[in-house]
Amino acid sequence: MPIPSPKVLTSAKQSKSKSDTSGVENLIRAMIKKHRTPFMLIRQSVLEKQFQRFRKCLPEVTPYYAIKANPHPKIIKTFIKLGANFDVASAWEMKHVLSLGASPNRIIFANTIKSVEDIITARRRRVRLMTFDNEPELYKISEHYPGAHVLLRIKVENEGSVVNLSLKFGADPENAYLILRKAQSLGLVPMGLSFHVGSQSKNVENYLQALEISAKIFEKAKEHDMPLKVLDIGGGFPIQHFDNEIGVNFERMASQIRKQIRLLFDKKVQFIAEPGRFLVGPAGILVTQVIGRTFRNNKNYYYLNDGIYGDFSGMVFDHCKYEFKTLRRGQTFLSALAGPTCDSFDTLSLDVEIPELYVNDVVYTKNIGAYSAASAVANFNGFSPAKIVVV
Ligand SMILES: *Cc1c(COP(=O)(O)O)cnc(C)c1O
Repeated sequence: MPIPSPKVLTSAKQSKSKSDTSGVENLIRAMIKKHRTPFMLIRQSVLEKQFQRFRKCLPEVTPYYAIKANPHPKIIKTFIKLGANFDVASAWEMKHVLSLGASPNRIIFANTIKSVEDIITARRRRVRLMTFDNEPELYKISEHYPGAHVLLRIKVENEGSVVNLSLKFGADPENAYLILRKAQSLGLVPMGLSFHVGSQSKNVENYLQALEISAKIFEKAKEHDMPLKVLDIGGGFPIQHFDNEIGVNFERMASQIRKQIRLLFDKKVQFIAEPGRFLVGPAGILVTQVIGRTFRNNKNYYYLNDGIYGDFSGMVFDHCKYEFKTLRRGQTFLSALAGPTCDSFDTLSLDVEIPELYVNDVVYTKNIGAYSAASAVANFNGFSPAKIVVV
């Protein structure tokens, strides 16, 4: 099964301007005249830039955008145009990307535990490639989707990743070969392996080690006349959430991954990945306004019209920290920021250094395109998440 590859790179402008602050702030000033806050700007140019960056740094790895990071239709359409493939985890996500025009052979059903109903949907919609990590799952797949192409997800280290994804998923690498054999004996096509090193993985060692473990399994399978064709290196590629953050260097990480791939694998092996955050995170700018302020605990508290239950939900589910910025300049003071709901838990920061703000002043956050709107609650306390505006 050939992995459909993306279109040829157009030479995307790689503006290395260290701070695009004035560009971002001009954009916010223009958009605030047209849209009510809160709104989240998704910059198409950044989606494209991130996609091309991925392609350029890991040319032998085909990216499948993990839509759970942000399933907004315009984002998916943008990636379809760019030639991306997609990682979906449910029948809903599958139908969503298909209805937007993605073709089934560009989709991986990358949830190791799938309901029978969802497996049947995959068969009907001809989404043939899927992951699994246990034997009972194989019985389900072989009964409801004979001939499906399967990748065994193995358990790998998630050391240093912000979100651990190996506590719940992944087969013991020791058993990998036998489970894949089992898949074959049940009439499925054992395509290869997948792993996930955890989300926002700043530790390249996780990838290098996982590649090494995978290579051993590939070797063993080959020796036993069951050559594997596909290795899915998952997602986890990190982004910078703060302007002056250090320790995130995708280019360096990618070059080490590439080296390891060349060193350990046969040229015929096809590589795929499932980046989510990396592709969409940097494209998002959340724009909120101050709806009230008070002085308590010796500092100014500013209440914003978006919070933990809305687009800052990543602070809970994604363990994410964000940088809060203001359009207003001037002397800064230690202040607190809170969301609009009645819950004290809906507090965004107790120690942010910002200028004195007034009602209606803008507070914005960059690099918030992933795991934000996607996990926001629809209408808690009557507050809706930000509208997404793709620009
Ligand atoms: C969440 C997830 C991804 C995307 O992870 P990122 O860290 O956003 O790149 C990819 N694959 C699987 C199976 C996932 O669960």
